[in-house]
Amino acid sequence: MGEILHRVSGKDRKKYYGNLNYFLDFIFPQRCVFCDSFVEDFSEFGAVCFSCRNLLREEVSPSVLEDVGDINLLGYVGIYDRMLKICLNRFKYFGFLNLYKFLGKLLVEVILENFSNFDIITFVPMHKKKYIKRGFNQSQLLAEYISKFFNVKVEKLLVKIKDTPPQSSMDFEGRRENVKDVFKRNFSELNGESVLIVDDVFTTGNTLRECAKELVLGGVGNVYGIVVAIDYFL
Ligand SMILES: [Zn+2]
Repeated sequence: MGEILHRVSGKDRKKYYGNLNYFLDFIFPQRCVFCDSFVEDFSEFGAVCFSCRNLLREEVSPSVLEDVGDINLLGYVGIYDRMLKICLNRFKYFGFLNLYKFLGKLLVEVILENFSNFDIITFVPMHKKKYIKRGFNQSQLLAEYISKFFNVKVEKLLVKIKDTPPQSSMDFEGRRENVKDVFKRNFSELNGESVLIVDDVFTTGNTLRECAKELVLGGVGNVYGIVVAIDYFL
């Protein structure tokens, strides 16, 4: 399945996956992204086998950070390193889209443990050009998984108005300037609702801070953030 998706161009990948997800999962047995063994039940966890799921769980330390800019509470599964890093890279760049199930489940556990209610789920948007090129937004896929679990709707509350270079290509100062004022509200007004915003990796936090700032300006009350991994920028 991963190999199949890898061969599908970015533009077609979302369509392909959306329509044929379960069919292809059934036809093409999937191998674990870590150890290459066949995964017996990938409908629930995606391409991670039982042993590797346990290994990863032993490796990560889910936790929260308080008051990150306008984000009241930021939850994360672990540090962007080792298995979590491999998993995210396979998910984002190698077409293993069904890893959203495994990663989504890890996020749900952090949310259950640490957060109270939230009214709306949203995600860090990609610029339209980048979205068309990649064919999917990884943060949106994770948001949709969380939405199904909690039965809270996902709304695209923000749009990215500038196609910026990847944050990873920037130094510390450059990263802040790179995303400054590039996220705009996609709604007219909210009245104190709590919003959970989803992203994949938190590095300097400039992206999430900018998103939260824009949400609060639009009338959002509490902002909760949830990311898969923290990559401390040293
Ligand atoms: Zn494995």
